[in-house]
Amino acid sequence: MKNRILLIGQGIAGSLLAHVLLEAGADITVIDHINAETPSRVAAGIINPVTGKRFVKSWRFDTLYEHAQALYREMEVRYGISIWEPLPIIRLLEGAEEINNWDTRCGLPEYAEWLSGIQHTHDWSGRIRADFKAGMILHSGRVHFNPIIAAIRERLTQEGRFQAANVAVSDIPALCAQYKQVICCDGYGGLSPQLFPHLPWQPAKGEALIVRLPGATGIRQMLKRSATLVPLEGDLFWVGGTYSWDLSFPLRTEQAYRELCAHIDGMLETPYEVVAHLAGIRPSVRTRRPLLGAHPSQQNLFIFNGMGTKGASLTPWCALHMRDFLLEGKALDGELR
Ligand SMILES: Cc1cc2nc3c(=O)[nH]c(=O)nc-3n(C[C@H](O)[C@H](O)[C@H](O)COP(=O)(O)OP(=O)(O)OC[C@H]3O[C@@H](n4cnc5c(N)ncnc54)[C@H](O)[C@@H]3O)c2cc1C
Repeated sequence: MKNRILLIGQGIAGSLLAHVLLEAGADITVIDHINAETPSRVAAGIINPVTGKRFVKSWRFDTLYEHAQALYREMEVRYGISIWEPLPIIRLLEGAEEINNWDTRCGLPEYAEWLSGIQHTHDWSGRIRADFKAGMILHSGRVHFNPIIAAIRERLTQEGRFQAANVAVSDIPALCAQYKQVICCDGYGGLSPQLFPHLPWQPAKGEALIVRLPGATGIRQMLKRSATLVPLEGDLFWVGGTYSWDLSFPLRTEQAYRELCAHIDGMLETPYEVVAHLAGIRPSVRTRRPLLGAHPSQQNLFIFNGMGTKGASLTPWCALHMRDFLLEGKALDGELR
């Protein structure tokens, strides 16, 4: 056991770290208490290269994108599942200033690959409100988190490496004595914020809806303005997400439900029916940088966390980075904590 690595938590972070460690030949065990309301279970898994009001490329996007594509493709082949779904984003634009900002960005050579000018026809034509113009974000997509978690769970179970259990803070000293390295991949669960209280946690609850849009089967583009609509199967769409710093239970609120419906009403002219309401707490951080590294005093305790709003794009590169740190003692990037 003392040569084994223990991962606590198997959301998207724990799953990708488990995969790269196993592929490198590491001897690991994973413990997860199996909770249906984690962010990895409810997220759409969107990867969007250009965000914010000024349409700027995200932090280290080119590197993150390259590693994400490579790792997800490798896992698709390894596990025989579909993970990466390319889906362009129709970005709704309104008013002279916003359209001007978009045109300016589209004119920059470094954005030519990622943005396309005003679109006169697209999958959402005839459904969006007439006052909008539409630009298109290219190379965006959706990462299917649930098949990844299920495939890794199956592999771990088959190899006798998975335990369904809840780990308490009081269990940590015994686990650190038992295992060579213990890695907290528990998101904003019960452990990391208590064991690493010095880190700049800023957890954000997110809620989303699943809606049915009659006759919308065949739309294979996302639609974004105040919320994002993501095509699922048939005429079902994921709509989200909200941001709230009130973490009280129950997680799902009437207020967020109404807020999301108002966003849909503001974007679409066509009717819809809400079929599900989802919620989870994002492990977000004030600095907006992932949290990777060692505990300040417990020698063999580590954290792999803080993926915030961008688990789909950040986690693959971070998992490879963490693997090299754990197995080969390579230094961590200075921004990752
Ligand atoms: C509404 C919503 C929409 C989102 N949309 C997107 C999106 O489109 N694109 C994107 O990139 N990101 C999105 N995110 C963010 C994304 O979901 C997170 O970045 C990511 O899921 C975090 O993964 P994680 O594995 O670190 O944490 P989690 O998903 O929280 O996983 C932690 C795991 O640890 C387990 N665990 C916790 N505590 C313990 C314990 N004490 N003992 C044992 N097991 C434990 C839990 O059961 C869980 O399985 C969204 C989040 C929300 C809420």
